[in-house]
Amino acid sequence: MTLRRRELLKAAGAAGALALTGCATPMIGTPDKARVLVVGGGFGGATAAKYVRVLSDAKIDVVLVEPDAAFVSCPLSNLVLGGSRQVADLTVPYTALAKQHGVTVVRDTVASIDPVKRVAVLGSGASIGYDKLVLSPGVEMMWDRVAGLKEANTQGRILQAWKAGPETVALRRQLEALPDGGVFAIAIPEAPYRCPPGPYERACVVAAYLKAAKPKAKLLILDANEDVTSKGALFKRVWAEQYPGLVEYRPQHKATSVDAASNTVKFEIQDEVRADVLNVLPPMRAGAIAVQTGLANSNARWCNVNFLNFESTVHKHIHVIGDAIQVASLMPKSGHMANSHAKVVAAAIVAELNGWEINPAPMLSNTCYSFVDDQRVIHVASVHEYVAAEKTYRTVAGSGGLSPAPNELEGRYAWNWARTIWADALG
Ligand SMILES: Cc1cc2nc3c(=O)[nH]c(=O)nc-3n(C[C@H](O)[C@H](O)[C@H](O)COP(=O)(O)OP(=O)(O)OC[C@H]3O[C@@H](n4cnc5c(N)ncnc54)[C@H](O)[C@@H]3O)c2cc1C
Repeated sequence: MTLRRRELLKAAGAAGALALTGCATPMIGTPDKARVLVVGGGFGGATAAKYVRVLSDAKIDVVLVEPDAAFVSCPLSNLVLGGSRQVADLTVPYTALAKQHGVTVVRDTVASIDPVKRVAVLGSGASIGYDKLVLSPGVEMMWDRVAGLKEANTQGRILQAWKAGPETVALRRQLEALPDGGVFAIAIPEAPYRCPPGPYERACVVAAYLKAAKPKAKLLILDANEDVTSKGALFKRVWAEQYPGLVEYRPQHKATSVDAASNTVKFEIQDEVRADVLNVLPPMRAGAIAVQTGLANSNARWCNVNFLNFESTVHKHIHVIGDAIQVASLMPKSGHMANSHAKVVAAAIVAELNGWEINPAPMLSNTCYSFVDDQRVIHVASVHEYVAAEKTYRTVAGSGGLSPAPNELEGRYAWNWARTIWADALG
C-alpha cells in the first residue's frame, strides 16, 4: 500500500500523535502491514479501533479519524440538562487508544471515500489508503423535514442537544432562564431515531429540575409516535406518580415546522404549540459521510449490512456499525449496541485479514439505563443472536428484562455501566 508523502505530512501535523521519532519519512502506519481505517471515534468507532489492535495482537495498523478533541458521552448527558452533572463528567480523552493500544488517532474529518481505490480523503486534504474501513459516523439530523428548524438551530434559538457537548450546555442555560410558570416542550420524531428512551429520560430529568426549581412550570412531550417507544409503562407511571400536573404526554404529534420568532411548533394534524423553551428533534439518518458514499440504501436513510461481519451491502471492504445501520428487529440505536457491533466487526476483520473463517454465530447485547430524576433509574436489557437461516439477529427468548420500578441501586449501576463501557471503548 502506498501513501503520498506530502499528504502524510499534512495528516501527521493534524494528528499530532504519530510515531515520528527515528523516521526519516513520517508515515501513518507501516506500509507492510494491513491497515484498518476507522471513521468516527464514538461508541462504535473507538471500540472497533481498540479491538482490531487487541484481537490482532497489535499486528494490524489502525488509524482512527475523528474531528473532536475528546469523546463526550451522550449517555448520561441528560443529567447535564437536569443540572446534576457537567459535560466534563462525561468526557474521555483519546490518549489511551494511542498510547496503550497503538491506534494512530488523526484529528480530522473524512471528507470523501473512494471505495474502489480504497482511499479516504480528509478535510485537511491528506489521503489514507485502507484494506478495511470501519464507518461509525453516528446520525445526521434531517433538518429539511421540519421547516425553519435549521435556521432556528443555527441562531441558537431552538436546540436539539442530541449530540452531547456545547448544545447540551446551551439548552441547560435556556432551561435556567425559563420563568416559573413557563413551558418546556420536547418534540420527538418518528422511530427509528438515536436512543429510543432518550427523549423520555430527558423529559423526566428536566421535570425533576422544574419540580424543584420552578414548580409552576409545565413540560410537554410532543411525540410523533403513537405511543412511548421504549419502557412505556414505566415512564408513564413516573409521569403520573412523580410529576402529576407537571408532565403532559401527547402522542401523534409529528412536527412539520417551527417559528423561532414566536417559539411555536406546527404539526401535521394537531394544533400548533407555543412554548418558552422548545427542544425539537427532527428525523434522523446515517451520518453524512455514509449517505454521501452511497451506503444508505435503506430508504435513503440507513445502511444495510451483512450482519455476520457488518460489511456494507453496497461496497465491499467498508463495514458500517452503530446508529448508521438499518437495524435488525428490536435492535436499538444505542451506544451499548454500537459497542457490541464493534466487537463483532473487529473479530470478523481480524479473521478476514488473516484468512481465517469468521465467527458464524455472533451475539450482541444491550442494556439501556434511563434516569427518572438525578438518582433513580429504570433499565431495559436484551441479548441478540445471529440466525443464519434468516441472515439477521433475533432476541434470545427469555434474555434481558425490565426494571420493576425506578430505584437508586440502578442509579449506581448506571454510572458503573457508563464508566465500564467508556473504559472498554477508550481505555
Ligand atoms: C440524550 C441521549 C442519551 C443517550 N443515552 C444512552 C444510554 O443510556 N445508553 C446507550 O447505550 N445509548 C444512549 N444513547 C445513544 C448513543 O449515544 C448512540 O447510540 C451512540 O453514540 C452511537 O454510537 P455511534 O458510534 O454510532 O455514533 P457516535 O457515538 O455519535 O459517534 C460518531 C462519531 O463519528 C464522528 N464523525 C462523524 N462524521 C465523521 C467524518 N466524516 N469523519 C470523521 N469522523 C466523523 C463524530 O464526530 C462522532 O464522534 C443516548 C443518546 C442521547 C442523544
